[in-house]
Amino acid sequence: MKEIILLKSGEIALKGLNKSTFEQVLIKNCRRRLQSLGAFKFSYAQSTICVTPMEDGVDMDEALDRLQKVFGIASLSRACVVQKDYADIRRQAVAYLRDTLMDVRTFKVEAKRSDKSFPMNSPELCRELGGDLLQAFPHLKVDVHNPDVIVTAEIRDFAAYVHAKRLPGAGGMPVSTSGRASLLISGGIDSPVAGYMMAKRGLEVVGIHFESPPYTSMRAKLKVMKLLQKVSLYAGRTILFVVPFTEMQEAIKDHCPEELFTVIMRRFMMRIAQRISYKQNCGALITGESLAQVASQTMPAIQCTDAVCDLPVFRPLIGMDKGEIVAVSRKIDTFETSIEPYEDCCTVFTPKHPRTRPKLEIIEEAERKFDFEPLIEKALENLEMITIDPEKPIY
Ligand code: ATP
Ligand code: MG
Repeated sequence: MKEIILLKSGEIALKGLNKSTFEQVLIKNCRRRLQSLGAFKFSYAQSTICVTPMEDGVDMDEALDRLQKVFGIASLSRACVVQKDYADIRRQAVAYLRDTLMDVRTFKVEAKRSDKSFPMNSPELCRELGGDLLQAFPHLKVDVHNPDVIVTAEIRDFAAYVHAKRLPGAGGMPVSTSGRASLLISGGIDSPVAGYMMAKRGLEVVGIHFESPPYTSMRAKLKVMKLLQKVSLYAGRTILFVVPFTEMQEAIKDHCPEELFTVIMRRFMMRIAQRISYKQNCGALITGESLAQVASQTMPAIQCTDAVCDLPVFRPLIGMDKGEIVAVSRKIDTFETSIEPYEDCCTVFTPKHPRTRPKLEIIEEAERKFDFEPLIEKALENLEMITIDPEKPIY
């Protein structure tokens, strides 16, 4: 019995002339994710990508699991390859679907026939196969409106398949078809979710993390690496830039009013992130901010932060409640890591009474009190660059 995986592309189907570019990127992304599992062949026809293992003993469960996290796929099914001959279809369907059908009470059969030379039409194929499955599994009943499983027989031009379980794909657009952006990632709950959400819209995501040793520990950095690795299961292989931020923070603390510390610090994060972005060909910055969550996430504070940015700033969580953000972080399995208790540089010098309505002129005046350019340059010179690989979990 030969098993394959069928992938239905999602929104790509809506694209016009550049559709094939999207499909090629999607296939490339799938190929990358499966590379370490063995050799696979990818073929594309009629909005379906067929993934065929080219060697025996390939871990198909793992392949399916990985493909479920690839953006651009609406749904996936594991299918059995059958001959274009009804006797073979019946025999293989009974054997291949046994475990699935033993577990359910109702089913229906759907047939798709693009090869019109196949002697039965779709309704005939449905009827025949439905009858034969009922005979083989007498506990089953047909339910055409709300079946527990839908058995599909597809007779295509080059091959034929039978499958029963359609799994939801990750949706979205293939990573990198929208370009590249940098994600300001802390060790918190929000920023990994923000990265996941923008990768879903087709962005390749590069991580930027600010650390302040000795106020922040090695464990805090490892935690961020771990979070980005989990995001990379969806977003693909990436890089994390770790920016030494201690001197900058100390300078801000020494020269600026305490209640403005957070906003000013965030402006410097954005300035530095933007310079890294230009070098890395990133067209936008991504943050995990959500309106009104904390003092630096009010409208006036965001205005002050954005005033130093030329690149667009994407804040996919801006309208989400904490509970909604947590639900996504559980889904992508970052939550448990995010709540590990390590200091973030933001929490190190948090003012007691941060200004929730900062004024841009006052902030700019405060920043003129010190010569920050050499500090920015020094931070950029001492960047650490870490490769994050979806296949290499960090413990
Ligand atoms: P998160 O849960 O992502 O830490 P938060 O609710 O704690 O977010 P803040 O600490 O105010 O909010 O940070 C807002 C955003 O600023 C974060 O979502 C992240 O994008 C960015 N950020 C904060 N700290 C860092 C850091 N140390 N390195 C990089 N980016 C950071
Ligand atoms: Mg935080």
